[in-house]
Amino acid sequence: MTQHAQPADLAPGRLTIDLGAIARNWQALNKISAGALTGAVIKSDAYGTGLRAVAPVLFAAGARFFFVATPDEALSLREALPGSHIFVFNGLWPGAAATYARARIMPVLNSIEMVEEWLGYCVEKGEAFPAAIHFDTGMNRLGHSVDEIPAVLALLARAGYAPQMIMSHLACADIPEHDKNRQQLSAFKSVATHFPDIPASIANSAATMAGRPYHLQLVRPGIALFGGRAIMARTNPMVPVVALEVPIVQVRTVKGGETVGYGAGHSFERDGKIAILPLGYGDGLLRAMGSATTYTGARFALGGTRVPVVGRISMDLVAIDVTEVPEGLAAPGRDVEILGANVGIDDLADAAGTIGYEILTALQGRYRRFYVNDIGMTDTG
Ligand SMILES: *Cc1c(COP(=O)(O)O)cnc(C)c1O
Repeated sequence: MTQHAQPADLAPGRLTIDLGAIARNWQALNKISAGALTGAVIKSDAYGTGLRAVAPVLFAAGARFFFVATPDEALSLREALPGSHIFVFNGLWPGAAATYARARIMPVLNSIEMVEEWLGYCVEKGEAFPAAIHFDTGMNRLGHSVDEIPAVLALLARAGYAPQMIMSHLACADIPEHDKNRQQLSAFKSVATHFPDIPASIANSAATMAGRPYHLQLVRPGIALFGGRAIMARTNPMVPVVALEVPIVQVRTVKGGETVGYGAGHSFERDGKIAILPLGYGDGLLRAMGSATTYTGARFALGGTRVPVVGRISMDLVAIDVTEVPEGLAAPGRDVEILGANVGIDDLADAAGTIGYEILTALQGRYRRFYVNDIGMTDTG
C-alpha cells in the first residue's frame, strides 16, 4: 500500500480559534460592565467560530445568559449547556411554543402576535414560561413600537404574566457620540418605568464599551468576544481570536506588462513574482478584496512581509504579489497568513469595504478547524 495523505491534510488551510482569547474577552467585558450581568451573543454559529465549541468556554468563563438568533441554534446550545439561560432574538416561530418551553428556551417576544401566542400557551399549560419582551426605540427592526406599550401591558395583565427581561437595541452604538444613542436610551428608560423590578438590557458590544449609562441590568456583547472592533473610531482593546493560514500551491514569475487573473484588470509594471493560494469565495474571501491596476485589495502576510492580493479573487483561488518576499519563503507548501498576528479581521474588512462581522461569518470554508487554549470545561449545569 502506498501512503496516502489523510483527508485532514487535504483541506485548503487551517483555521485556528483561540478559545482562551474568547474567555479573556468575555472577562474583560464583564469587568467593564461590573454591576450589570454580562451575557454572550453567539448567533450565527458564534460569529462563525463554532457555537458548540465556544459556548462551554464562555460558560466556564462565567457567562450564564446566552443569545442566539433562531430556535434551532437555541436547541443546539441547550444540548451543549443544560444549565444556561438562552434567549432567541428573532422571537417565537409560529406554532413552536411547546418546543421552546420543553427545551427551556426563551423567545424574545417582538410583536403582539408573539406575545399573544406565548401567553396563550402559558395559560393553556398553567405555567408562566419565561420570555423577554423587545421594545423598538428607533432601530425600526424588531420589537414593539412605543405606541404598542398599552396593548402589551393589557395582554400581560390579563394573563398575570411578568417577563424575565425587557430589551431594546441601539442603531448607532458604533458611534458613541451619535445623538441617537442618548435618545434611544432615554426612550427605553421611559418604557422601563412600566416594568419596575424587571431587568432591562440595551447594550451590544459597542454600547458596553461606551459606558455605564448603557449597561442597565444586563449587557449583550457579541462581536467583541470574537476580537472584532465594536467602536469605529477607537483602538480595539480586544484580543484576536481567529487565525487562518493557507499554503501556497504554485509560484510563478510575471513579466512587466502582463496581467493577472480574470478580467485582466491588474497589470504588472515590471517583472515580478506571484503565488497562488487555494481559497476563494466559498472560503470567505470576498470579491471586494481583489485588486486592479487602479485600486488595491486585501493584504495578507508571509514571513512578516505584507503580500497584496493581485487581480480578482476567483472561486477557489487567489493570487498574491510575493515579489518583495525573501527568496525561499515564497514556495509551494509555505503558509501564508490570511488572518493572524499581522492581519486582523478588521484589516480585511477595511480592505473590502465591510465590517469584521461579515469577515468572521464568511469563514465557513473548507478549512480544517483547530480549537486551541481551551480553558477547560467546568460543570455546565
Ligand atoms: C447581534 C446583536 C447583539 C450583539 O451585537 P454586537 O455588535 O455583535 O456586540 C446584541 N443585541 C442584539 C439585539 C443583536 O441582534
